[in-house]
Amino acid sequence: MRISDILRVKGDRVVTVQPTADVTQLLTLLAEHKIGALIVSADGARVDGIVSERDVVRALAARGAAVLTEPVSNIHTVQVRSVAPEAPIEEVERLMTDNRFRHVPVVENGALKGVVSIGDVVKNRIDELEAERSSLTGYITGERV
Ligand code: AMP
Repeated sequence: MRISDILRVKGDRVVTVQPTADVTQLLTLLAEHKIGALIVSADGARVDGIVSERDVVRALAARGAAVLTEPVSNIHTVQVRSVAPEAPIEEVERLMTDNRFRHVPVVENGALKGVVSIGDVVKNRIDELEAERSSLTGYITGERV
């Protein structure tokens, strides 16, 4: 299975935020879309950074409520790790596990193609295990499942 298989199921919609937006606008977008991270992009296509709820929590703990009016560019991560659509799913699993983050943008030829979250990866694993269980049951019982 490849990253593009995950995107085919979940879609390629990506919510981005401008680096100049303030942290309160960021929180509104996270709440509105029920997600934990946004891709920071000035033009909506190129990845300029990533910002997650954890960045907000750390900045709030360090600097207090003043953070809410700061620009997103003050708290986002600039060195973003991404994957290509043709990469195997194991690559994103390894990236998330080794680096302890839960979101990875999918980039092709410098352009944003989607985002894979740890929830997508877990869902994919469960679906795979379910399909395997079903075919093994069919094999043992002689029934087509
Ligand atoms: P997360 O677990 O995804 O909420 O993010 C935890 C931390 O890692 C935050 O500081 C994020 O800005 C950062 N982060 C999340 N995803 C990535 C990524 N793909 N590449 C680099 N940093 C990331």
